[in-house]
Amino acid sequence: MKKIEHIGIAVSNLEESNLIYSKLLNTQSYKTETVDSEGVITSFFKAGDTKIELLQGTNEDNAISKFINKKGEGIHHIAFEVEDILSEIKRFKKEGFKIINETPKKGADNKLICFIHPKSSMGVLIELCQEIK
Ligand code: ZN
Repeated sequence: MKKIEHIGIAVSNLEESNLIYSKLLNTQSYKTETVDSEGVITSFFKAGDTKIELLQGTNEDNAISKFINKKGEGIHHIAFEVEDILSEIKRFKKEGFKIINETPKKGADNKLICFIHPKSSMGVLIELCQEIK
């Protein structure tokens, strides 16, 4: 694990949330990206050495909308940057963690990503991400 790459926050209105987070972090969002495969729009902010990712669902049937319906807006996941996502997935499997997608998929921000089930990690959804080079 290299560092916390970003913290993902589930929001119901990306435009409003962008305004609030640009004030909070005193910087503008540097990137908005739609991830069609996940049914989400994301917006990224730099916060020093790490990032904040705001996520809004684009329909009712995606992880973010479901999360908000169940728990309301809030912290959705913590993403750790890894050097080699495949060997980390192997390691997590060996340690008994429940992995949501064993085959990494392409996420936002030019990353290969994999999620660890929150049941394995005290209620926190963990994302592993590796920069696509
Ligand atoms: Zn993320």
